[in-house]
Amino acid sequence: MPELPEVETVSQGLRRRALGRRILAVEVRHPGVVVGSPEQFVAEIVGRAIVSVQRKGKALALELGAENCAPRYLLVRLGMTGQFTVNPGAAPVEPHTHVRLALDDGREEIRYRDPRRFGRLRCCTAEELDEIFGRLGPDAPEISRPQFLAALRGRRGPIKSWLMNQQVLAGLGNIYADEALFAAGIHPLSPAGRISAAAAGGLLRAVKSVLRRAVKLQGTSFSDYIDIEGRPGNFLPRLKVYQRTGEPCRRCKTPIQRLVIGGRSSHFCPDCQPSPRRAASVKNPTQRHRDTEKR
Ligand SMILES: [Zn+2]
Repeated sequence: MPELPEVETVSQGLRRRALGRRILAVEVRHPGVVVGSPEQFVAEIVGRAIVSVQRKGKALALELGAENCAPRYLLVRLGMTGQFTVNPGAAPVEPHTHVRLALDDGREEIRYRDPRRFGRLRCCTAEELDEIFGRLGPDAPEISRPQFLAALRGRRGPIKSWLMNQQVLAGLGNIYADEALFAAGIHPLSPAGRISAAAAGGLLRAVKSVLRRAVKLQGTSFSDYIDIEGRPGNFLPRLKVYQRTGEPCRRCKTPIQRLVIGGRSSHFCPDCQPSPRRAASVKNPTQRHRDTEKR
């Protein structure tokens, strides 16, 4: 599923290939991926030029300008398997292509393809976009240490679910949350609000560094994700824990374990990321000794 690095890669590709170009025609082949009436969607977009490409978390917005008109925004959520590519207009249309945006003279077009159809395209005003982006927490690469620490305070749930909650921090999904927790040596079940300031600082550095490296390598492709030119991401061989259940930890050789938290699989090294209880007993050996004596 596309997370921040994949969506950022698509944004950068669109800036390179589509900025300043006019949308000549729009074809909605599957109305289910468009929010609202497809006729209105088409009418609001046709004839406008792509003047900027914005991203917040995993959401992407193309600013569409027209002379003497307020801008409109094409908000794109790639969902599970959404792909946004720039293709020659004459290229054969692949199955599951739901929306086509012909550019300029029609020789090239942007296509939205989405086999599982969890993604959505929506045309909105500046106010609507502000409201939608406003519901998201700070973009993960931008959040400051004080903001991060304040957001963790008092949170009872497991840190893994907290990291994936888009209202507190926008951009992380299953892959990069698992990778950041491994890099920081934090067990995914650790209660978010109990993480020490030092460990939380380490986690924030891990989040930013994992995202930065993944953006550099154009994201991670498992099955469907591709960039604007149709190329897969290159981060897959760099994954340390995600989907490596049973394989040796790259740091200590202990087999990677998998555990379901909030309905999502979490992958971690039981040795590099000690469970919260074990971490507490290691930190406080006298206490553990006393407990043993009591028994
Ligand atoms: Zn390990």
